[in-house]
Amino acid sequence: MAVSRSTSADGVPVTVIGAGPYGLAAAAHLSGHGVPLRAFGQPMDSWRTRMPAGMFLKSTPSASSISDPVGAFCLDRFRAAEGRRPEGDLHPVPLDEFVRYGLWFQRQAVPDLETAAVRRVDADGGGFRVELESGEAFGSRSVVLATGLGPFARIPAQLADLARTGLVSHPSEHADFAGFAGQRVAVVGAGQSALESAALLLEAGAEPVLVARTDRLLFGEPPTRDRPEQRPLARRLVKPASPLGPGWSHRAFSGVPGGYRYLPPGVRRHFLRTVLGPSGAWWLRGRVEGRVEVLTGRAVRAGEDVGGGARLTLVSRDGGSTVLEADHVLAATGYRVDLDQIALLAPGLRDRVERTGGAPRLSAGFESSVPGLYFTGLAAAATFGPVLRFVCGTGFASDRIGAAVAARG
Ligand SMILES: Cc1cc2nc3c(=O)[nH]c(=O)nc-3n(C[C@H](O)[C@H](O)[C@H](O)COP(=O)(O)OP(=O)(O)OC[C@H]3O[C@@H](n4cnc5c(N)ncnc54)[C@H](O)[C@@H]3O)c2cc1C
Repeated sequence: MAVSRSTSADGVPVTVIGAGPYGLAAAAHLSGHGVPLRAFGQPMDSWRTRMPAGMFLKSTPSASSISDPVGAFCLDRFRAAEGRRPEGDLHPVPLDEFVRYGLWFQRQAVPDLETAAVRRVDADGGGFRVELESGEAFGSRSVVLATGLGPFARIPAQLADLARTGLVSHPSEHADFAGFAGQRVAVVGAGQSALESAALLLEAGAEPVLVARTDRLLFGEPPTRDRPEQRPLARRLVKPASPLGPGWSHRAFSGVPGGYRYLPPGVRRHFLRTVLGPSGAWWLRGRVEGRVEVLTGRAVRAGEDVGGGARLTLVSRDGGSTVLEADHVLAATGYRVDLDQIALLAPGLRDRVERTGGAPRLSAGFESSVPGLYFTGLAAAATFGPVLRFVCGTGFASDRIGAAVAARG
């Protein structure tokens, strides 16, 4: 599937910025609609440089395919192309395999991807002016922003001072944990990233201590069969399979994301906070429980630099406080969408984007209040729900974007 690249002097009909799962899927679907485009970004960059070596995907293989218009480039097809058999829920996908898959998808579905970075997008007449790091600039009638999670990494205010001294980092700053061997590392958080980071730190020879606000750590239920359709009928009726995991609510969030934007804003915010709350994949339990030191029911109140080490003051619900000293603090405290962190959007253009919380308010076709400016991936989760946080949302998003941009002409 070749991307139709415009050479028109008036600019391109659409520019896709970002070459992770969402940008690649958007480009593939736009091409499927015959819309000429230019697509930019280092393919699978976040997965290659911002995730730790040795990581596995929490999503199951069947929920980890990047979407293309005819389903030709799913994970199973890639495995077949590598001469391997498909595997199911009992076999988590290793990070390095997913990176290889994403690069293969790019070569097949978006072969004309340009690896240049985009420096700036600004309004220009009824369209946009796109400027690359190389200095090249061109006009574009529409822009699809698929720049991912990077700008939204969140470090809590209580740790901000320590972050400035380099004693605190976010997991997205590490492509492996080998450099922490021999160090005591406080890992703050109770989600997949915190739990997997703690396991990987331990396995890299560090001494992790997990600090969690929750009263206990939660892990998923191990699947009893490799394929959801192999489960007994009664189990399937009570907890139907879905890309977000078993259960009717997960099925609704993944099956009808288009309905999510009709929920009242407060309800949408609530679901976004609580659906798929902090927990680890089933296969992490044995690598964490009984192996990693855990302090549950505690929140970080303050952090200070004590001569090159970190001292954290932790408070429990009953008001009691504990002091924890560590060589480093890993704030596995997630991501928070804030449009103001997308530096490549010119401030004047950014200010014209209406918001819901810090995220852009989007139409059914993923278009913001600025005509022709589309957002996909995590930035769209406030409008379409939790499925947009995962690779399994690439089909819904790209299908809608492809149709909307094609209709715009
Ligand atoms: C540790 C971790 C584990 C995860 N595990 C899973 C999982 O198991 N399953 C799952 O479904 N999801 C998982 N996710 C969520 C996952 O990151 C998203 O589902 C997915 O990567 C989002 O894709 P994306 O294309 O929106 O963003 P990204 O993958 O972040 O891609 C963004 C792209 O934008 C490019 N870019 C940024 N700025 C510019 C610029 N100025 N110019 C050009 N290009 C630019 C980058 O180079 C990159 O290629 C995980 C996330 C994290 C952090």
